[in-house]
Amino acid sequence: MSFSTLGLSPAILDAVTELGYSEPTDIQSKAIPVILSGKDVVAAAQTGTGKTASFVLPILEKFNQDRKLRGKRIRALILTPTRELAVQIEESIAQYGKNLELSSMAMYGGTSIDEQKQRLIWGVDIVVATPGRLLDMAHQRALHFDELEVLVLDEADRMLDMGFIDDINKIIERLPHKRQNLLFSATISEEVRSLARRTIHKPVEISIGKNSASKPNIEQWLVTVDKDKKSALLSHLIVEQDWQQALIFIETKHGAAKLVSQLEKRGIQAESIHSGRTQAVREQILADFKSGKIKFLVSTGIAARGIDIGELSRVVNYDLPDQADDYIHRIGRTGRAGAEGEAISFVAKDNFRNLCAIESRLGHIIERKEFAEFPVRKTVPISILNYVPKNKR
Ligand code: AMP
Repeated sequence: MSFSTLGLSPAILDAVTELGYSEPTDIQSKAIPVILSGKDVVAAAQTGTGKTASFVLPILEKFNQDRKLRGKRIRALILTPTRELAVQIEESIAQYGKNLELSSMAMYGGTSIDEQKQRLIWGVDIVVATPGRLLDMAHQRALHFDELEVLVLDEADRMLDMGFIDDINKIIERLPHKRQNLLFSATISEEVRSLARRTIHKPVEISIGKNSASKPNIEQWLVTVDKDKKSALLSHLIVEQDWQQALIFIETKHGAAKLVSQLEKRGIQAESIHSGRTQAVREQILADFKSGKIKFLVSTGIAARGIDIGELSRVVNYDLPDQADDYIHRIGRTGRAGAEGEAISFVAKDNFRNLCAIESRLGHIIERKEFAEFPVRKTVPISILNYVPKNKR
């Protein structure tokens, strides 16, 4: 299928072509026509599937056909769980809409509220916001929703996990009844369904398949390791396998700082992002990681949420996540849109139950690799789901 069959204008198609997208992804070919038709959508799609363009492109198309804007008014509101994701989506809007005269802004806490207010005075077509800051703005009457046409709840499952439900409900109460609603979520849990029932009107449900994040172009493997040997193992792999880049997930911010100093002691430059670092520092580090100035980035799960780093070749679960869905999200950071990727997990004996949950969610066990220099004292049994990996290579 080609982008030109989806009902988008040449100005948008040109921008997409310039980004090197040759054909729409699954979620894009399913969602774009439905959104253009004005229907509500509930879509199960995770980061890495091209979901951002699947809602941004049709919104741009609709607004461009019928341009109108009033001061302190917005036409589309995209709610996201984190600042990083808000910034990233807004960047995508700017790229996809570069040939159009539509405006967008990211609105999130931790930065000057006055600057954001100033921009709103003229009106903004599309606001991408985290729920808290948006509510603040609404309370301060810095923006009004009477002209709102489209609401997008992005990564709805994560917003609920992060406890934003009350804020989301308060925001929705302020919106006009007649509006288009689009909900995107990696998983459609009972909680997400309940939010959808309350918010969304006769949606078209779109799914791109449960295991679509476990794409064949991501090579997943794990290594069992004793906890106290993890940092030595990581340094060994970086050096021996000549890694050029990795995003390394870790559980705590304390652990992140410690790992960076352990790597540095072994001559490997690394940086960390976590909730203890200021927004400005996090943004700088992310920019440096994207540009390749920083090769190894250690991040806690929340700080890394929604980061889009184009050609990321490798993610490492230094700590295995508690939730199988987090594993899927994390590996979705690599092997994006056709690129090759590698997802490596360090598994200690304590992680056995999590590993079973992840492997049964994937539907196959993850290939194990062993390194003679790192024999394990505490072995990790093979998962209950005890059959040969489908994608064994
Ligand atoms: P997302 O799931 O929205 O976070 O997008 C994942 C990545 O895929 C981003 O880096 C996009 O720039 C890229 N992408 C989105 N749509 C396409 C497409 N049709 N072809 C190639 N890459 C795409």
